[in-house]
Amino acid sequence: MRIEILGSAAGGGFPQWNCNCRNCHSLRAGVFRGKPRTQTQVAISNDDCTWFLLNASPDLRAQIEATPALHPRNAARDSPISGVLLTSSDIDQIAGLLSLRELQPFHIYCTLSIRRILQEGNSVFAMLNRVPDQVSWMDIDCDSSFCLQALPERGAGINCSVFSLGNRFPAYVSRDRSLTLKQEDALLGVIAVSSSCRRMAYMPAVPAVDDSLLERLEEADLLLFDGTFWSDDELIRVQGSGSTAREMGHIPVSGAEGSLRKLAGLRKPRKIFVHVNNTNPMLDESGPECAEVRAAGWEVAEDGWSLEL
Ligand SMILES: [Zn+2]
Repeated sequence: MRIEILGSAAGGGFPQWNCNCRNCHSLRAGVFRGKPRTQTQVAISNDDCTWFLLNASPDLRAQIEATPALHPRNAARDSPISGVLLTSSDIDQIAGLLSLRELQPFHIYCTLSIRRILQEGNSVFAMLNRVPDQVSWMDIDCDSSFCLQALPERGAGINCSVFSLGNRFPAYVSRDRSLTLKQEDALLGVIAVSSSCRRMAYMPAVPAVDDSLLERLEEADLLLFDGTFWSDDELIRVQGSGSTAREMGHIPVSGAEGSLRKLAGLRKPRKIFVHVNNTNPMLDESGPECAEVRAAGWEVAEDGWSLEL
């Protein structure tokens, strides 16, 4: 299985348009020891021919153009992208669907609740179904396994298991609608298994790590994990107010209850942080936080990385 990391930042990207934090300011001034990043986006393929997107970032159009494997090949209208698997209905994970509205057929795999949010609560997504042969919505249960399908229909050699990681829908989903949805549909983790039984765990948003999650991750060969915030009060310290990392649904990297400690016992998978917020000090390659992450056996994803599993 090939895994292309098209983007590795959290929502807003790095630098973020209205952010003047130490990281963003230093990057713009040309004195930052680290790389700019677009918003997190991953593409996977078992055969280098048929590709699937894990979520659809707001930067998707430029990310596809930056990745030759995802360019059209044959017909006047063509794409090697056969489907998109959505792990949540966060704007950062769905906005890119609107960049895929040019009448191209593909599958969208998501829970019924996420499909209802997009189709019933946000009419702009009707542009994905203007003609009969456009997007096929594939409802998936929040605790299930299924094979990703290429177009025309055939197995693409990737089996996905999904499971619930959280029960909170984004703020743009009204309370009335939220009450009609299945709460565990809100946020999924994904384990993608290649035809050679290699396993990648993908979870750009993880509210908490419990024993059942640890058990799943022990089986993985590659882990792409929530690296949004270094510390729980990171945004409050930058902005002077706001929510903690945990209140926003992200376990912080550092601290006694952070992901570095919680996942320290995982020996098998290659461990990579994705979805890194622009305020996170581990983006600074000359800083102690980056050194701590590397010493713990983790990597911080960069745009353009191509991984083979
Ligand atoms: Zn910033």
